[in-house]
Amino acid sequence: MTTSYDLDANGTPIEAAAAFTLRRTDNPLPDVAREREIAAPKFGTVFTDHMARVSWSLSTGWHDRRVEKYGPLQLDPACAVLHYGQEIFEGLKAYRHEDGSVWIFRPEANAARFAASARRLALPELSEDDFLGAITVLVRTDAAWVPAGDETSLYLRPFMFASEKFLGVRPSLEAEFLVIASPVGPYFGGKVAPVSIWVAEDYHRAGAGGTGAAKCGGNYAASLLPQQEGYDQGCEQVCFLDASTNTAIEELGGMNVFVVQADGRVSTPELTGSILEGVTRSSVIQLLTDAGHEVDERCILLTELQAGITDGSVAEVFACGTAAVVTPIGRLAGRSFNLTVADGGAGAVTSRVRGELTDIQYGRATDRHGWLRRLV
Ligand SMILES: *Cc1c(COP(=O)(O)O)cnc(C)c1O
Repeated sequence: MTTSYDLDANGTPIEAAAAFTLRRTDNPLPDVAREREIAAPKFGTVFTDHMARVSWSLSTGWHDRRVEKYGPLQLDPACAVLHYGQEIFEGLKAYRHEDGSVWIFRPEANAARFAASARRLALPELSEDDFLGAITVLVRTDAAWVPAGDETSLYLRPFMFASEKFLGVRPSLEAEFLVIASPVGPYFGGKVAPVSIWVAEDYHRAGAGGTGAAKCGGNYAASLLPQQEGYDQGCEQVCFLDASTNTAIEELGGMNVFVVQADGRVSTPELTGSILEGVTRSSVIQLLTDAGHEVDERCILLTELQAGITDGSVAEVFACGTAAVVTPIGRLAGRSFNLTVADGGAGAVTSRVRGELTDIQYGRATDRHGWLRRLV
């Protein structure tokens, strides 16, 4: 059984949650309509009745912690984020367990990364208490929106943006932090099917000293054109190479990458400063290590990966992230190559680590690392 502890019992967030004022909407979606929406959710198209929000200004600091009706924001056309992209975000999920309780997975890691992203984007840091408090109150308020179906969850999207009305170029003196929530099903729709990857050879998502290690909208904006190129080549996702040498595998637009050797050794690109450190990545490293795999964080050259797939020494390749969990990569293509991964369909290591991770998240296995926090 799950041996994790409750946020309440644990102290921190109940107080943090108490700092939030709840202004309930007076027209929530009727029960029948909500049940219809969460029966077979897609990814990120439907949102719950409420959103959490905290405002910041240099003079006042963080203030006005509230949960209010979900709805459009009113922004001045000169709002800084619309011009210079000073914005960061996070992504995590609330899972409903068999007994009806609702849990989140390693939220402190997301809170810490959000603070690190804020520093890089010259936005104000939000405390862990406010981050967890906002999530706690929102999930409790909209608890009926957490779906119960297989592989479903309530996706939480905390984000912060520069809200000052000012066209000069300097860090904004005002910011808004919000959390919105969306009931979701599998990211790639349907079963755990392998995805095909296009290796971008002409574009990079991040370079040395850039914002690659921060979770910010700008990184995604830079990935969309190469992503489009990937689609045009019949691939679902793009893999980026390092910007300095254009030879080492970095990551996908929103997922980290793992390579499984036929002899059981596993490697993943080391954190160079231009790669986003995924919570799923670090959880997968832990679970693989627990299972006796040697996991190396190192430089993986594209040529090495190509040769390994070709000669069979690479048995499996997979991508991982909160949204798509663990997804097998079945094909790797680029301008001059098109390779099929041997066990790309249902590799044993990929399937096992995916199963172990989701079993913990959904309360089907012992949470031996204490990763879950109970919200409801
Ligand atoms: C969010 C993200 C990931 C995955 O991080 P998780 O914490 O595992 O969800 C990987 N790469 C990029 C670029 C990301 O933005």
